[in-house]
Amino acid sequence: MSAFPQFEYHQNTLHAESVPLESIAKKFGTPCYVYSRAALTATFHEFKQAFADDDYLICYAVKANSNLAILNVLAELGCGFDIVSGGELHRVIKAGGDPRKTVFSGVGKLADEMRMALAADILCFNVESVAELQLLNQIAAAMNKTAPVSLRINPDVDSKTHPYISTGLKENKFGIPFAEAEQIYLSADQFQHIQFTGLDCHIGSQLTELSPFTEAGKKLVDLLQRLQSSNLRISHVDLGGGLGIRYSNETPPSIHTYVNALRQTVGSIKCRLLIEPGRSLIGNAGLLLTRTVYIKHTPDRHFAIVDAAMNDLLRPSLYNAYHEILPVNKKNGNPEKYQVVGPVCETGDFLGHDRKLILDTNDLLAVMSSGAYGMSMSSNYNTRPRAAEVMVDGNTIHLIRARETIDQLIAPETILPA
Ligand SMILES: *Cc1c(COP(=O)(O)O)cnc(C)c1O
Repeated sequence: MSAFPQFEYHQNTLHAESVPLESIAKKFGTPCYVYSRAALTATFHEFKQAFADDDYLICYAVKANSNLAILNVLAELGCGFDIVSGGELHRVIKAGGDPRKTVFSGVGKLADEMRMALAADILCFNVESVAELQLLNQIAAAMNKTAPVSLRINPDVDSKTHPYISTGLKENKFGIPFAEAEQIYLSADQFQHIQFTGLDCHIGSQLTELSPFTEAGKKLVDLLQRLQSSNLRISHVDLGGGLGIRYSNETPPSIHTYVNALRQTVGSIKCRLLIEPGRSLIGNAGLLLTRTVYIKHTPDRHFAIVDAAMNDLLRPSLYNAYHEILPVNKKNGNPEKYQVVGPVCETGDFLGHDRKLILDTNDLLAVMSSGAYGMSMSSNYNTRPRAAEVMVDGNTIHLIRARETIDQLIAPETILPA
């Protein structure tokens, strides 16, 4: 099977499902994010099937890609959501998502965001500090509500991923130290407007091994058993997101293997299992389509200057992340080793180094595995309007976010009075 089953070559030209990428570039321009509805749906079903008829809930981590169309496709499939801001809650509701299937994560929730989430009756707040618990209790009291809460526990396990996206070590800012969590759960009486309903952790992103997940899971299950013996009624365990995808030669566990390992860790405990996958759901369902603007040969190197940049796809610059770069039209000739770079005024502005490609000006390239943390981390740096986004469904192309205009971009700004 191809690495990207919904993005394949037919007659040497790369397609998204049944649509040649060339026709998307022609119609909507470049740079352009292209998503496959079939890829997203198939991955969601893989998760679902792995859970069989367990009591579970998949809460898609909205921050991976928060486009309304993507949220809507997932909502229609019955997916829940993991949000990290009031803005993301607003998106979930707009997209037809169910707040009662929504959990709220994040280390710095604001009072207004708590009010929004309480008013919407979300499933659970994943609380990361005692100070946050106190504020949530106050706000719930003022609204005459009870806030359902999981403590996000920092299990102090090494997720063996990039340090910027590792979150479960004791020196990270995330979660409540494992040793303190039990005592906080047992002080439930102090928080009249809090109901502890779950346990939560999230140890990092782009994990390619199972052991950190199962290690964290076991720690949570131990704690859960102690809490249950103290008569706390905990109804779910949330093991977060973090399953890695294949960008180049990584070999992450399959969704099936991953889900099975979690199910076994939680074992016979009568509890609903929640997960918060982001990257593993949408990462390989999207690509970034870009066009070469100039080919530049210097004595040292060959540069392909393309119309997408670090403001469109930050991951290479931020984490030195690798994304496969494929030619949209396969050509014959001698490949050169290219530095694929954008127009932004930073040496760190690159999409790929040392890529063997046969290139001319105006050729289309596809930067693969860009569905997650691509558009959602994009910016307007260098006053570059953000890329268009389209979703392909069979042989239909849907524009799901229009390319920004420069006027939209500067509209909120004002000049000082004369
Ligand atoms: C980012 C994040 C996720 C999703 O992580 P992925 O690696 O994209 O699966 C899940 N839960 C929390 C709390 C997060 O911060």
